[in-house]
Amino acid sequence: MTKLSPLIDPFNRKITYLRVSVTDRCDFRCVYCMSEKMQFLPKKDLLTLEELDKVCSVFIEMGIKKLRITGGEPLVRRNILSFFKNISRHLKKGSLEELTLTTNGSQLKKFAKPLVDLGIKRINISLDTLNPEKFKTITRWGRLEQVLEGIQEAKKSGLSIKINKVALKKTNQDELNDFVKWCGDEGFDLTFIEVMPMGDFGADDRLDQYWSLQDLRKDLEKIWTLNDISLTTGGPARYCEILETGQKVGFITPLTHNFCESCNRVRMTCTGQLFMCLGQEEDADLRSALRENINDDTLLRKRIMQAIDRKPKGHDFDYSRQKISGQISRYMSHTGG
Ligand code: SAM
Ligand code: SF4
Repeated sequence: MTKLSPLIDPFNRKITYLRVSVTDRCDFRCVYCMSEKMQFLPKKDLLTLEELDKVCSVFIEMGIKKLRITGGEPLVRRNILSFFKNISRHLKKGSLEELTLTTNGSQLKKFAKPLVDLGIKRINISLDTLNPEKFKTITRWGRLEQVLEGIQEAKKSGLSIKINKVALKKTNQDELNDFVKWCGDEGFDLTFIEVMPMGDFGADDRLDQYWSLQDLRKDLEKIWTLNDISLTTGGPARYCEILETGQKVGFITPLTHNFCESCNRVRMTCTGQLFMCLGQEEDADLRSALRENINDDTLLRKRIMQAIDRKPKGHDFDYSRQKISGQISRYMSHTGG
């Protein structure tokens, strides 16, 4: 297959990072992510594991260097390990630099070791609280103990762990410093995420839950010494170091800062819809291109190139003036966080 020129968008941003949602399903129902009664997609709409492998491989041939698998909960997709096993061939060949995933941690007891054996080195685990009751309130269906066991297994297997914690006013505000300390003691990096206006449910709740990371940072600075560090990942996070623990702390602030100028990523849903920007509705249908002729990827490549040519300059999320604008109707579990 001929290698096409690198994926460069109209704003001269080189696209090297693909996030792929492999399922819209999940064993949790986090309040900011899903409604209690979710309608999941019929199986025929989902890309098969072979189709996912095909699209990811074409993207890698076109210059993607980092691949993050997400969902829904990626580790609840049936036979997901076979997908990881196949796609890890690109790591071995050196055409892919990093294969990683974002998980809620519930299945890590089973999967951590096999993932390490396939060459996965770092993972992001989402965890918003260390309090079992609050955990139940936030995830509705989750059990904290199971996640903590999974996290320990991941640590034991040698994975570097970054904890993603959604900042939720009133809900996990009071345990901020204990949480930072726990991450420091365990050797985990930590990233705070501002709650984003995704999904067509409870937009008012999002506003109610919204705890600005500027305010969170001020609270942190009452106890810890924070030093800004210049670490650019092309993503929305800004990083600092906590001097007392030496750990790295990130702040994902799509709502207070605009991070779009250095954006290097695109996202694909489990149905093969490519979103060029998390905060815009603009998309491209890769599934039809893929299914048109599974043995010839010319159309798929063409559609990817055309999509990158349409990558928007940025998003329009804005919580200012106590109203939400730029709201996106799809769920995070659909786009893949
Ligand atoms: N199930 C996996 C997990 O929870 O890590 C992967 C998918 S989840 C959609 C990816 C990330 O999106 C999680 O860290 C989650 O906390 C975050 N997320 C979901 N809905 C969000 C929202 N409305 N605002 C901000 N972050 C959100
Ligand atoms: Fe599931 Fe992750 Fe969404 Fe929670 S944030 S419901 S764990 S997909």
